[in-house]
Parts: sequence; structure tokens; C-alpha cells
Amino acid sequence: MSLFQADEPQTVEVRGHNLVCPICSNKHFWTREAQLNRAVSSFFNLDWTDRTATCFVCSDCTYIFWFLGE
Ligand SMILES: [Zn+2]
Repeated sequence: MSLFQADEPQTVEVRGHNLVCPICSNKHFWTREAQLNRAVSSFFNLDWTDRTATCFVCSDCTYIFWFLGE
């Protein structure tokens, strides 16, 4: 058992709203951190690089939510 590995999907709250999957209405997600590379930042026409996004992956249908954070 490790504190750093949450294998159980959890509910996610974003700015006071519970995250609900738009595909399957599931409310449990895995949390992942993803490093954005230059290809992604240029795709979105953003002037930053090497930022980290937080991803919430639906535990049922695997739909991915991306949040760029602050
Ligand atoms: Zn889903």
C-alpha cells in the first residue's frame, strides 16, 4: 500500500462543482499529471512551454478531462 499511488478512482471537485463524465455520467476518476510539450502548446497557440496539466480519467469509459491549472 502506498500513499503515492491512488489506485481507487475518486470523486473530483472543480471550483465547487463535482466532475461528472459527459459520456457515461460516472463520477469517479483517476488523477494523472501530464507534462505538456512544445507540440501541444503550439497546437493551442499558447506562449508557454513545459507546463503540467492535471488529467482526470473517467474510471468507466476513460474519457479524459484536462485542466491547465492556474
Ligand atoms: Zn465516463
